[in-house]
Amino acid sequence: MARINLDHIRHAYGVRLSAPDDYALKEVHHEWDDGGAYALLGPSGCGKTTLLNIISGLVQPSEGRILFDGEDVTNLPTQERNIAQVFQFPVIYDTMTVYDNLAFPLRNRKVPEPEVDRRVREIIEMIGLSDWAKKKAQGLTADQKQKISLGRGLVRSDVSAILFDEPLTVIDPHMKWVLRSQLKRLHKQFGFTMVYVTHDQTEALTFADKVVVMYDGEIVQIGTPAELFEKPKHTFVGYFIGSPGMNVIPARIDGRTVEMGGQTIDLGFAPKIASGARTELGIRPEFIRLGRVGMPVTISKVEDIGRQKIVRAQFADKPIAIVVHEDGEIPSEPRVTFDQASINIYADSWRVGGE
Ligand code: ATP
Repeated sequence: MARINLDHIRHAYGVRLSAPDDYALKEVHHEWDDGGAYALLGPSGCGKTTLLNIISGLVQPSEGRILFDGEDVTNLPTQERNIAQVFQFPVIYDTMTVYDNLAFPLRNRKVPEPEVDRRVREIIEMIGLSDWAKKKAQGLTADQKQKISLGRGLVRSDVSAILFDEPLTVIDPHMKWVLRSQLKRLHKQFGFTMVYVTHDQTEALTFADKVVVMYDGEIVQIGTPAELFEKPKHTFVGYFIGSPGMNVIPARIDGRTVEMGGQTIDLGFAPKIASGARTELGIRPEFIRLGRVGMPVTISKVEDIGRQKIVRAQFADKPIAIVVHEDGEIPSEPRVTFDQASINIYADSWRVGGE
């Protein structure tokens, strides 16, 4: 397995353009650990597939280099990069049996037959297709075919990395959950470097050790699920991670205090930002307390989602969400309070000051 270096990568499709906004990838410069499980998470069009395809060699970057364990592979074609890839839709041989489909990548590399048999049996059991081993793939459902694709990605143990592009899209929800956990287990067992593209935060957060959040052609944060939840570096991360996402409220900083919605709150620290500067505060809906004291809010809607209620309200001229326990009271004259510790401060969308 390999450490992956993304060295000042930029990419524009078609004509190379000088305006930064015309780049599908603006500037990606990171090192990803050998054996890491990375999820690329972000909304449609943010550049996830472009980055994955640059790693695999399907797309040549307009600028920058890509290195596997220090070796520059930028100009190597896909087949010489020693990677396994699993795409959104199954890529398998319909006329071969399930067993032979899984054995193919190993036999192709002249792996001894007893080893082929051992690996194939292990993988076929993991994907739940042992009973189908001798069946031709053409008779299988799309769901089963995708499991074979997944198995083919995992069957080799000598690859530099395994790249997944939304591989569970066609799998039913229960099986999705099962395969995700098995993928995690296999990753722990074999320690392969995995890069997994998804726009589904649950998928990214349950599977990856490091989640790479992308927005508009850039990596805006790489972190553990807890880091992304508690200390989002960019307002987009706060909004995208969590359900509902972080509230972003306009405010004005004055030394150690912040003024918003006509109220002044002592932050307990002086953020590195000019006094009087307009800024935004990020507060998770889970960290806002709704009660009879604090700053007034106007409730517009209460959504009952079982064990919790999501209260939609207007605060400081901004719509906010507040998560309340299912038994939580909703006062007739509602007010809110929150701890300083749960506040993140942003200037130009980027987090500033105090830890
Ligand atoms: P999705 O989740 O919808 O697959 P993504 O995050 O993977 O999106 P990309 O597919 O990498 O995003 O696309 C990034 C940007 O590059 C988008 O603006 C897209 O329209 C553009 N793009 C992608 N592929 C091409 C292409 N072959 N030619 C021109 N533009 C492209």
